Amino acid sequence: MTYQHYIDGEWVDGHGTDTFESTNPANGETLGEFRQGTPEDIEDAIAAADAAEDEWQSMSRIARAEYLWDIYHELKDRHQELGEVVTKECGKEISEGKADVAEAWHMVEWAAGDARHPKGDVVPSEIADKDAYMRRKPRGVVGCITPWNFPVAIPFWHMAVALVEGNTVVWKPAEQTPWCGQIIAEMFEDAGIPEGVFNMVQGFGDAGARIVDHDDVDTVLFTGSAEVGQEVGQKVAEDPGKLAACEMGGKNGIVVTEEADLDIAVHSAVMSSFKTTGQRCVSSERLIVHEDVYDEFKERYVEVAKDVAVGDPLDEGTFMGPAIEPEHVEKIQKYNDLAREEAKNVLVDRTELGDDEIPEGHEDGNWVGPFVYEVDYDPDLRSIKEEVFGPHVALIEYSGDIERAVEIHNDTPYGLAGAVISEDYRQINYYRDNAEVGLAYGNLPCIGAEVQLPFGGVKKSGNGYPSAREVIEAVTERTAWTLNN
Ligand code: NAD
Repeated sequence: MTYQHYIDGEWVDGHGTDTFESTNPANGETLGEFRQGTPEDIEDAIAAADAAEDEWQSMSRIARAEYLWDIYHELKDRHQELGEVVTKECGKEISEGKADVAEAWHMVEWAAGDARHPKGDVVPSEIADKDAYMRRKPRGVVGCITPWNFPVAIPFWHMAVALVEGNTVVWKPAEQTPWCGQIIAEMFEDAGIPEGVFNMVQGFGDAGARIVDHDDVDTVLFTGSAEVGQEVGQKVAEDPGKLAACEMGGKNGIVVTEEADLDIAVHSAVMSSFKTTGQRCVSSERLIVHEDVYDEFKERYVEVAKDVAVGDPLDEGTFMGPAIEPEHVEKIQKYNDLAREEAKNVLVDRTELGDDEIPEGHEDGNWVGPFVYEVDYDPDLRSIKEEVFGPHVALIEYSGDIERAVEIHNDTPYGLAGAVISEDYRQINYYRDNAEVGLAYGNLPCIGAEVQLPFGGVKKSGNGYPSAREVIEAVTERTAWTLNN
């Protein structure tokens, strides 16, 4: 069976004849075959979304949210099953696969619950007897382009608020995770969402690009790499009526000061660099450690990095699964090669894992282990500037005060996430106020998100429209309304 696109309330083959497969990164098993969407399929989906707008907007927010409450219950009821699908398709450990699903229902709960909250503001006027309001209107057709690494959570981060606010949606899931896309589309169908309000087209970058340059798309919500995100942002900027919210990658750092509790520091660094095989946008690839605690921290961190086992991600005890694709393993290997040239010392090199380290029956998986090196800090080193998106970690020793640590921490073009580990509140506060990131963590791993907080980066990591609760700013227009009584 070949899975189809969901356009205008129908399952359709689309215009093209090509298909593609979803593959389990842990063992190479084929999970399903999918129609490969073309730009013409995207055009059909946009036409359907455009036609469905008026009727959808004529419903109350509370009525629109009802469809999402159905999906909320389904995500919860099928938590284990869907967590396993996420794990099979993107290789994340099962606890992370389930967390992805939970993150999705948190967002749906936020969006659907928010439907009953006041929207806009009643504001005072300078003139007596004049009423003044700030109102929010839906922007229209919202195009969603999502990455593979949170294949259930991020689509709902995009779509849930957009739909409740009265927009219609065209979504292109990542090409690595079409099975998750299929299941989410089935959920919308089961919830009975009106025809054309939600549309899903499977496919690659050419399909995504058509969402970006189509005149009838009012907002593009993009999450993915900085390379693609910058292209998306630039194209959308050519059309003054259109808006793009781009959430992109990071080169995240953890500062460990001389006042750090080293148990917390080692735990935070290990979780941030190796969980999900370093393939989170917030994973940490730079550890900036004060000279007074450097040797002890290094010894303890390296001990864990040498031992951390890869395993079948479906096993509850597995700490680290595979990389997403063979091409991604190659990319990580290339950065490990670069780091070998730039490093002062390579401390752990598990680029090629031994046969005895690979779980039985998973020889065809995309395995790669931790790579840890130390550098003498030099702003020109590429290995400590560019996102690898893998278990590739630089240790950087610093001397001096927190100001110096934060200077090194900020010396990257990215600004997504970062953490400080310290027992000294002056240092913590300095980091909080000066770290050039959208997501800052204190005495915690540099990972984790809550939908009631903004989620997004600065500099090359984001374009000023964070995700999660803040998505509302990208999917609504604010208008002023005044009324003379
Ligand atoms: P990617 O940029 O390769 O792909 C993301 C999506 O864009 C996919 O659906 C892809 O098909 C589509 N696409 C590719 N080329 C396109 C084009 N020219 N026009 C329009 N769409 C196009 O990213 P990925 O490999 O799926 O995900 C990993 C990246 O995402 C990492 O850089 C990671 O840091 C980042 N990420 C960021 C966040 C965040 O919230 N900031 C969250 C998760 C992942």
